[in-house]
Amino acid sequence: MTDLNAFSFEPIAAAAPAQRRSRQARVAWGDRVVTVGGDAPVRVQSMTNTDTVDVIGTAIQVKELAVAGSEMVRITVNTPEAAQAVPHIREQLDRMGIAVPLVGDFHYNGHRLLTEFPACAEALSKYRINPGNVGKGDKRDRQFAQMIEAACRWNKAVRIGVNWGSLDQELLASLMDDNAKRAQPWDAKQVMYQALVSSALQSAAYASELGLDPNQIIISCKVSGVQDLISVYRALSQRCDYALHLGLTEAGMGTKGTVASAAALSVLLQEGIGDTIRVSLTPQPGEARTQEVVVALEILQALGLRHFNPSVTACPGCGRTTSTTFQELAKQIDDYLRLQMPVWRARYPGVENMKVAVMGCIVNGPGESKHADIGISLPGTGEAPAAPVFIDGEKALTLRGEGIARDFQKIVEDYIERRFGAATAAH
Ligand code: SF4
Repeated sequence: MTDLNAFSFEPIAAAAPAQRRSRQARVAWGDRVVTVGGDAPVRVQSMTNTDTVDVIGTAIQVKELAVAGSEMVRITVNTPEAAQAVPHIREQLDRMGIAVPLVGDFHYNGHRLLTEFPACAEALSKYRINPGNVGKGDKRDRQFAQMIEAACRWNKAVRIGVNWGSLDQELLASLMDDNAKRAQPWDAKQVMYQALVSSALQSAAYASELGLDPNQIIISCKVSGVQDLISVYRALSQRCDYALHLGLTEAGMGTKGTVASAAALSVLLQEGIGDTIRVSLTPQPGEARTQEVVVALEILQALGLRHFNPSVTACPGCGRTTSTTFQELAKQIDDYLRLQMPVWRARYPGVENMKVAVMGCIVNGPGESKHADIGISLPGTGEAPAAPVFIDGEKALTLRGEGIARDFQKIVEDYIERRFGAATAAH
């Protein structure tokens, strides 16, 4: 036998996300507030794709996004009609009991809309201003100032949201000229990074000069490349302490958009960079808009930054599995837990931290099930048709027959009531 001392090593440091060090902004409406940055949890946000003029349709989608877990919802405010609709959307949400702040997305004409439609300016909780789309030449500063004045007047937070697809062209041209004069010019990508960060920080500094509380400023510099996003946000976080809105812009559809967003956001969140996230997924035909919220929640939960739903550990299956039974059971349990969570969250505090394992055979089934709070190891090829169930690391019973899925679900329910219901009873 090998001498284990030959492999002795120092204790292995446990990985954990680094501490964030940003200011805290208040995203407020009426007497309600959602904080972003500082010691607030990393917030999830999303954006509607309805026509804002459609008050009911937009309110319904905002509700769906909020129920899915979005803590702020952005809506397009692009026309006078859209600006007029905003207070009605707010009222409709209040009537439905949906306490989620609305963020107005402004480009080109935000200065006019926020000035001419004060009810819109008041109903929104935060304004997104894109410095690349505020105006050109001497109009730029004047129109930017009008939007900041509205934020100061109504005590709203502002996101200075730079996007490389709509970067301030005058600033970029000026930085390119400066670069050309360097003895050793930087490559074009470096100039673009610089332009993104400078645009955001210059605009934030100007907003502060105009009287906006720096705590009410949130910054974003979105690009669509994973490595570009990591580079830009590392630079941003070194150069300022504003709360940062993090997201990979135009991430794309389906698996590609999900993976690219998860890859970029995970690296940065692990480094303590990012105070609120949005996953910019293009919905696939027939796919719910809420998918972008589901992905955002999963990213935060996978990193251990927040817990929203009990986690289901399921093996991928292989040649040892005799049927799709374990896949069906894993999905059934996962769907069931998600469906119950809106009710359970209030009734069973802490249930979101629960771990459930649904495994396909004896190889890793019992071991993984023992690591979970509650787990089941289904029989693989050639195994006796029995499914041991493990509770709190111990084998508790064995299920047999046709109703294994139903029986296991009941065991999970009883476990939740016993373990997490006690906390409610004690209060
Ligand atoms: S637990 Fe069993 S069925 Fe699942 S992947 Fe591993 S060997 Fe295959």
